[in-house]
Order: sequence, then C-alpha cells, then structure tokens
Amino acid sequence: MEKIIIVGGGIAGLTTGVYALKAGFEAEIYEKNPVPGGECMGWNRKGYHIDNCIHWLTGTDPKSELWEAWNTIGALDEHTEYADIDRFYSSRAEGREVSLWCDLKKTEDELIKESPEDEAEIRKFIQHVEYAKNCSVPVSKPLDMMGLGDYLKLGKSMADMPKVMKEYGKISCAELGKRFRSPVLQKLMCDYLPPQYTAYSLIVSYATVAFGNGDIPLKGSLAMSLRIAEHFKKMGGVLHTNCPVKKILIEGKKALGIELEDGTVEKSDFVISSVDTDFLFGKLVDRNYMPKPLAKAYENRNGYPVTSGFQVAYAIDSDFSGKGTVFFDCEPLTLGTNRITRMSVKSYAYDKSFAPEGKTVLQANLVQGDVDYEYWKSLGEEEYRQKKEELAEALTERIVKEFPELEGKIELLDCWTPLTYNRYCNAYHGSYMGFMTTVGNKQLQYKGVVKGIKNLFIAGQWIMNPGGLPVALVSGKFAVQRLLYSQGKSMEI
Ligand SMILES: Cc1cc2nc3c(=O)[nH]c(=O)nc-3n(C[C@H](O)[C@H](O)[C@H](O)COP(=O)(O)OP(=O)(O)OC[C@H]3O[C@@H](n4cnc5c(N)ncnc54)[C@H](O)[C@@H]3O)c2cc1C
Repeated sequence: MEKIIIVGGGIAGLTTGVYALKAGFEAEIYEKNPVPGGECMGWNRKGYHIDNCIHWLTGTDPKSELWEAWNTIGALDEHTEYADIDRFYSSRAEGREVSLWCDLKKTEDELIKESPEDEAEIRKFIQHVEYAKNCSVPVSKPLDMMGLGDYLKLGKSMADMPKVMKEYGKISCAELGKRFRSPVLQKLMCDYLPPQYTAYSLIVSYATVAFGNGDIPLKGSLAMSLRIAEHFKKMGGVLHTNCPVKKILIEGKKALGIELEDGTVEKSDFVISSVDTDFLFGKLVDRNYMPKPLAKAYENRNGYPVTSGFQVAYAIDSDFSGKGTVFFDCEPLTLGTNRITRMSVKSYAYDKSFAPEGKTVLQANLVQGDVDYEYWKSLGEEEYRQKKEELAEALTERIVKEFPELEGKIELLDCWTPLTYNRYCNAYHGSYMGFMTTVGNKQLQYKGVVKGIKNLFIAGQWIMNPGGLPVALVSGKFAVQRLLYSQGKSMEI
C-alpha cells in the first residue's frame, strides 16, 4: 500500500488523514504538539476549561454538504449537541445596546426601534442576510477541478449570492457602518470582523448563524479535534504527537519523506503538508518553491492583513449567563503604536462542562494585527511577561467598569498574545485565519500543489481566503483529491 506522510495534525491535517485512508492509502500524521487540533484548541486552568476556537462552526445543519464532510471525519453526527445561544453578538455604545440575534425578525425589529431613521438600510441588510443563507465553500471538489455540471449545481444552490456581492462585495465593514446614522448601529457593523474586512463576509457569517448552519458543538473545540483524531486512529491511521518536522526531504523533483527535529528520517510515497504556508515555504522546503501570488500576499501586509488577538480568560464566581459576546467602548489603552478604544468579552455560560457549577468562564479579546505581532516580538522575555500582566490588569479594570456586577467575582485564569499562536502552531504573525478578505484585493485561491515537486501537496487554511475551520476541512479533502488526480485515479472519496 502506498504511504502518505501528513505534516501537522490540525483540522486540515486530521481531515487529510481520514480522506487518505478512505482513498486506500496508508496515512501517518506528524504533529509537533502533545495534542492534535492545532488552532482548534482548548486547555484547562484551575478547574476551568478555556475553549479557544469555535465561536461558530459552519456546516452544523445536517442538510448541508459541509455537515456530510464533518460527519465523514468524525467531528459531528446526528447525536451532537449544540450550545443554546440566542445571538451572534451584541454591541454597546453611548449607553445603548443592540444585537444580531439568531432570530432575524427580532434583530430587524430591535434595530428599527433603536434607529427608525435607518429603517431602509436595516431592511436591506436583513434581506441580504437572508439571500446569503446558502453561501458555502465548495465541498465536492476544488473549484478549478469542477466541470460545467458542478458549476451549475453550485450556482443553483447559491442563486441569491450575486445580489449580496453586488450590494456588499465592494465595501468594507467600516463603510457599511457609515451607511447607518445611529452610532450604536455603526459600531454593530464593524465590531465582529476587523473594519477593513469586506462587508459581505459579515453578512455571510451572520446568515450562517441565523439560519442554523453555524452552531457551537457542546464540550468545545478541543473535544471536536480529539473526536476527529480518534476516528482517524480507529480507521487505521497513525498519529505521532510531540514530533516536530524539521524538513521535507527533496531529491530532484520528488519528496522522499521527512526529517524530524530529532534527526529521525521517515520515508513515504507522498507528503501532504497542512502547516502554515509561511512555515512550509522557508522552513520545511526552500522559500523559492512558494507560488508567486502567495509570496506577493505575504509581502503586501496592507492588502492582505492577518488577524490575531490578545486574550484573557477569567473565572467568574456567578453564572453570568445570557450575555454571549458583547463589544463596548473602553478607556483608551496603548499597545506599541496602537491606541485601543474598544474591546469585547464573551461569556461561556452556554457550556456547563467548562466551569464548576454556578461559575462561568469569561474571555476578553483585543483584536491584533501584523503591527501588534511585531510589537510583541520586539519585547525581551521579561518585558513581554510584564506587558502581558499589565494589559490583562488594565482589561480587568475595564470589564468591571462595564459590568459592575462582576466586582469581587472575577479571577484571572490565563492570558496570551499573537506570539502564543506562533509558538504553538507556527501560525504566521499569530493569525487565527488565512489572509483577511479586504476590498479591492483579489481573493487568494491557489492550487495546493508545489511546482517542481510532483508528490508534495498542500492542505490547510491558507490555500483559500478567508481560512477558518470549513476551509481547513475541505482543504484536507482537496489535497487527497489532487493527489489521486495526479495518479490518474478517480477523485471520488
Ligand atoms: C481564537 C480563535 C478563534 C477561532 N474561531 C473560529 C470560529 O469560530 N470558526 C472558524 O471557522 N474558525 C475559527 N478559527 C480559525 C480556525 O481555528 C482555523 O482556521 C483552523 O483551526 C486552522 O486549521 P489548520 O489545520 O489549517 O491549521 P492549524 O490549526 O494551524 O494546524 C497546523 C498544525 O500543524 C502543526 N505544526 C506546525 N508546524 C509543525 C511542524 N514543524 N511539525 C509538525 N507539526 C507542525 C501545528 O502544531 C498545528 O497542529 C479560530 C481560531 C482562533 C485561534
């Protein structure tokens, strides 16, 4: 049996493993960390669980094609239980609060009541959220491998998307905000995604949640990663943890296998990398192999920015339920050259398994970009530790000011920065996703093949904007399909 070595055991690597086995290959995953999952992760502190990924999982509707794929890899099944959440998020400003509720009609009524002069714009927004309800990444095969029939099917399932793209495809979330007169509505439109993000991304994300295709599986992100890993192992796959790969061994135009950090060499017929592409091209293989459009995107930090976060997790000595994610203005904070005036908190009261009875985990987030990553990186070890502590303390003060009921009930569990994601996953600038989808910049989408190395393929969220869990999932399947195609075999898996 031919053997595939998969580098990286995040969602893309695990998915690759399952589909490789389904296609009849031997599959071995090499993951640098002690546990698989990559960015789809969670960890325990002082009797609490800090869930650090899934805010919404696209593909939880069993009628969707994505659900089929999640089900195939062992992430979701008919018995999966989901969090009982009522909103996407809420925004506060100038003493007012509005929400994007899961119930679209409730949102429409609330927003119109809050700002009758914005009624026409609100109704248009809601109508387009409805148009976007069937928008999805391709699942059956990569776009560039689709035939006419596949395109017609895809076009039919997303018949209303052109209307969304026409209205919101060429403006940013910041510009969308400016269409509204009410200050709190303006903030609502550019709170969740960074202001440079295209407005249609917000519409599609909200539609996913509002139409029941973006729920949160109970027990959290790590549990989902572990379910997939177990499924892979039960199918006969081999998962090596604590095994950082040092390089992919190349001879002529062929990958021979991998060399681990400890010097061990493992041979295989094919290699599929699922690690961050900045790490793949530069550390695992020579940077010159990087496809030109991708190299240009990495060089263009303004056109293709990435997003990360400074995050703090707290134990709350109350149930603090019914809050979800709330954005609010805060007393200004300075981080390097960045002046921060807005932040968010998220209550995890929806999952009882994360905290002892009667208590809750709360997480605060400050959005961080490329510049912030450079700032954190510039600090010495002691300075970095001190700055983290100072910032966490400053956030605690601001949270208690915004939610006075938390006075005396809030205890710090952990805090981490964009550098944490870089250290843990080799994530470029600590990015949560792939490159941001900004206005005026071409969406990146490249074939997960490496020119000059015929048996090396690429999975992972960086192969398609904007990244995220659904892209990680389909990228794993697509990498195996490209491999099958290169061998002249059927791509049906
Ligand atoms: C805080 C946060 C919130 C998020 N929220 C959501 C959300 O609500 N919805 C959503 O869809 N997405 C969300 N995401 C994004 C999502 O987590 C990622 O898109 C997805 O997990 C990426 O998967 P991946 O397998 O492509 O990459 P990764 O998860 O980065 O996996 C790469 C793997 O390769 C391993 N690796 C790296 N270098 C080596 C090496 N040299 N040798 C061996 N192994 C190596 C890493 O340890 C890692 O396990 C969130 C991410 C974060 C951080």
